[in-house]
Amino acid sequence: MSLVPVTRYTYTPLNLLKEGAIVNVYGVVKFFKPPYLSRGTDYCSVVTIVDQTNVKLTCMLFSGNYEGLPIIYKVGDIVRFHRLKIQVYKNELQGINSSGFASLTFEGTLGTPFTARCSSKLFSFSAQDQEMVEDLRVWASTHIPASSAVVQLCDVQPLQFYDLTCQLLGKAEVDGTTFLLKVWDGTRTTFPSWRVSLQDLNFEGDLSHILRLQSLVVDVMVYDNHVQVAKSLKIGSFLRIFSLHTKLQSVNSALTNSLLRLEFHLHGGTSYGRGIRVLPETSPCLDQLKKELECVDVDVSQPSSGICQAENEDISLSILTDHQYLMKTPICAILKQKAPQQYRIRAKLRSYMPRRLFQSVKLLCPKCHSLQEVPYEDSLDKVLQDASSKTLNTKLQDTSLYDSKVWSTKGQGGRQVAIHFVKSDDILPLSSECLILIEGGRLCEVSKLSSKFHSVIPVKSGPENLELLDLSAPFLIQGNVYHYGCKQCSNLKPIPNLLNKELWNPSAVAEVLGIVPLQYVFVMSFTLDDGTGVLDAYLKDSENFFKIPASEVLTDDDLQRSLETIMNMLCPPGVKIDTYPWLECLIKSYNVTIGTEQRICYQIFDTTVAEDTV
Ligand SMILES: [Zn+2]
Repeated sequence: MSLVPVTRYTYTPLNLLKEGAIVNVYGVVKFFKPPYLSRGTDYCSVVTIVDQTNVKLTCMLFSGNYEGLPIIYKVGDIVRFHRLKIQVYKNELQGINSSGFASLTFEGTLGTPFTARCSSKLFSFSAQDQEMVEDLRVWASTHIPASSAVVQLCDVQPLQFYDLTCQLLGKAEVDGTTFLLKVWDGTRTTFPSWRVSLQDLNFEGDLSHILRLQSLVVDVMVYDNHVQVAKSLKIGSFLRIFSLHTKLQSVNSALTNSLLRLEFHLHGGTSYGRGIRVLPETSPCLDQLKKELECVDVDVSQPSSGICQAENEDISLSILTDHQYLMKTPICAILKQKAPQQYRIRAKLRSYMPRRLFQSVKLLCPKCHSLQEVPYEDSLDKVLQDASSKTLNTKLQDTSLYDSKVWSTKGQGGRQVAIHFVKSDDILPLSSECLILIEGGRLCEVSKLSSKFHSVIPVKSGPENLELLDLSAPFLIQGNVYHYGCKQCSNLKPIPNLLNKELWNPSAVAEVLGIVPLQYVFVMSFTLDDGTGVLDAYLKDSENFFKIPASEVLTDDDLQRSLETIMNMLCPPGVKIDTYPWLECLIKSYNVTIGTEQRICYQIFDTTVAEDTV
């Protein structure tokens, strides 16, 4: 017998509640909303309980602090409420907390310990209480269906709502109403998780750890009222996310026909008990999760210098290719084979050269395959300057084919500039449709005129005809694009061949002037790594790979920025290779003889970078 007087509480069965009474009750949780910020600064939780009388009671509980509300983890938990006030709301009895309200929560499963969850350390728990809990457990085991909503990621199916128990690895605010949580539970989803772009986000968490875990980590988006809770979550804490919605999103990709990704959303509001609850590290609810996490730790704890090979890696950036019939080949296998062959590979772009992208643009002769640098402005000006020192042949001015105008420049030794406006059907076309021939012009003049006239051809006076300059100069200028010809392969013809044709497209102009036009191409060296090996492959491409014309990139700032963006996406600066996107591309091997040495080189072909739609 205890000498200390113990308050004996009486508990009212739920079928005997009366309006206006302040009661103590026990019940099994049938539905609940984890504490959320209601309007104002109070937290609110809604708990519906039921007892052996089969009567339900919904309680609206408010508290100035989060911990003041019942610590419920799942449907089926057992609660004890002290000093609950009963009132009528919409013709039904409802419980609200009155002054001195207190709650205890117990695991509802038979045979589990009688550990009470309570924010206060001081509470009474007698043999009578133990009996009440035990009786409710027995009753619930046959009357309350076990919560099926609590699942692991490996069991998650699309288009369902789940309560997910997980550990928080990283978080970032996306905008005022959207928050990203990166979580894991040690199991892998059947479909790869979507990936929310971290670009421009202030990410909190160990990204390298997350990257090592790869597809074990899922991205959860939480919205509206959950953002406040999400902000306060500590990295590493254990969470239960209630009523998490899964969706399957199809991402169209020519590679895989369609790529399916699992999305996780915690929608705004508290309907269906949506919310997030932090679970204390000691909670028995975490036993299973901790076991899973420990097992995984063994697998991923080896340091990965290269690329982790996991089952469900997602493609964040696809390169679309033709030749779908080609099977994927690991790089280690390619390196052992003889050339020439064609392969399809899936790899990451470890590095590339040249790092200064404008240096990657070269001129390629399609006939003799020689590569040359694009002339710099200075050297181009020099070529034009040399040509401008030649005297004009007045006999070649004002013919039936063109009208000519001649200017003398001031203070430059009387340099003469002639412009021949090419007529079309004996009429001078509008400047925007007009081809002009310029004699004695410098680079600045040529480039000014090329912005006004359709096409500009620098020429010089020959003995009989106007002639092209030597092919160090462009044979045709249209807008920003300077067209060059191959010195070795071209066989120049005089200008009158061109006239009367009225075909001002570069290849037609080149043809009648006997020129083999050079192509602007990107020439880059890609170091590709698929985890099995590393391979250097050349990219030689005019506009298919980047979908940016190499001929215009040198003179267009926007295109240069686009190119830079693409390269930063393929090979992101400042992060480990694990985060790089996978690329699918086609490569072909070929033999090269350098001196006496025979080598196999690799070139990327028929491949296009495509930004992902997500
Ligand atoms: Zn050539």
